[in-house]
Amino acid sequence: MKKVLIIGAGPVGLTTGRLLAEEGYQVDLFERRDHIGGNCFDYHSAAGLLCHKYGPHYFRTNSDELLAWLSQFSDWIPANYHVRAKVQDKFVPLPISLATVEALKGRTFSVEEFEHYLAQERVAIEHPQNAEEQCLATVGRELYEAIFKGYTEKQWGISAKELLPSITARIPLRFNRDIRYPSEKHQVMPAQGYTYLFKNMADHSRLSIKLNQEFCLSDVRAVESAYEFVICSGQLDQFFEYQKGKLPYRSLRFEEKISESEFVQENVQINYPNDFDYTRTVEIKHVTGQQHPLTSVVYEYAQAEGEAFYPILSLESLALCDQYRELARQEERAQCPIYFLGRLAEYRYFNMDHVFLRSIKLVNQLLNKEIVKV
Ligand SMILES: Cc1cc2nc3c(=O)[nH]c(=O)nc-3n(C[C@H](O)[C@H](O)[C@H](O)COP(=O)(O)OP(=O)(O)OC[C@H]3O[C@@H](n4cnc5c(N)ncnc54)[C@H](O)[C@@H]3O)c2cc1C
Repeated sequence: MKKVLIIGAGPVGLTTGRLLAEEGYQVDLFERRDHIGGNCFDYHSAAGLLCHKYGPHYFRTNSDELLAWLSQFSDWIPANYHVRAKVQDKFVPLPISLATVEALKGRTFSVEEFEHYLAQERVAIEHPQNAEEQCLATVGRELYEAIFKGYTEKQWGISAKELLPSITARIPLRFNRDIRYPSEKHQVMPAQGYTYLFKNMADHSRLSIKLNQEFCLSDVRAVESAYEFVICSGQLDQFFEYQKGKLPYRSLRFEEKISESEFVQENVQINYPNDFDYTRTVEIKHVTGQQHPLTSVVYEYAQAEGEAFYPILSLESLALCDQYRELARQEERAQCPIYFLGRLAEYRYFNMDHVFLRSIKLVNQLLNKEIVKV
């Protein structure tokens, strides 16, 4: 039987594993944690509350085909992904829209007034060289200082002047009063949670998962003769045993407070750009749809140490990453090729829908047929 080795049981590992198992491959999947689902993992606490272990995960996509494919593993509920930033004593909706300036200024704005305001505030910087310049050129100094500066610096632990402009390059600006945080067509939650969805995806007779097992290149070398190819969604530098050095990541610490009330916050997420050590508070119950007499609010603190969450993109880290990418390209051409895919293996931030789509496309490409049309 054709055999495939997959590293990492997150969205990439499980999507590729499932598709290949359906196509007749025996799939051996190795995961270093004691659970599947990658960073999307959720669980029920001792009190029975549905919690997102690695930070809140809001599913959204523009792809009808992806949603249809995922729907064989889960039902969906609509989700109100509403995010507000606390600026002094006001809670202003994000991303920036008419509703944001109205909440900030305490009066209504027409589209023309908003455009006029932005035109006056924007700093003329033709080619922004860092995240601060990027924001100043897009939204101007007042909104940058009220909403972005403190948040970005807490999140990354360095001045916004030292961050690449790409970090804030895609700040959405809306000239309407749509206060939904994402812009995608579908904004939904798996009705019974992400782990339920991933368990169903993993439920296939030819898909075997071994937990608590880390795999690096030397482990692959020892077994590769048994496999046709390998898909690695594990951490790039760690997979190559840090031979070029460590890729920098930003991490998070979570502090949970349980309250004996149905809700504490007005909406799922509040950002704290100023005044507090934490960056955001999340009351996930607003979007899991769970009925429960208790609620949990998670306080998020950005930190240097801990789980690898966000690649810290700088000229140095990208140069180091290029060296690893070269090693990865060599492995892709080897007799038993290793394909690198996903947020850890590519050292890039991806939303879930992007990794699902990229996983499906990789399998279509490897098998040279359109198993799932996306
Ligand atoms: C704080 C935070 C919030 C996020 N919020 C959202 C959101 O709201 N919406 C959204 O769409 N996306 C969100 N994301 C992104 C989302 O988590 C990713 O798109 C998704 O998890 C990527 O899937 P993946 O399979 O590439 O990686 P992961 O989910 O990280 O899975 C990789 C798996 O590989 C395992 N692994 C790593 N190395 C090895 C190894 N050497 N051997 C064995 N196993 C290994 C890991 O333990 C992990 O389980 C968020 C990410 C973070 C960090």
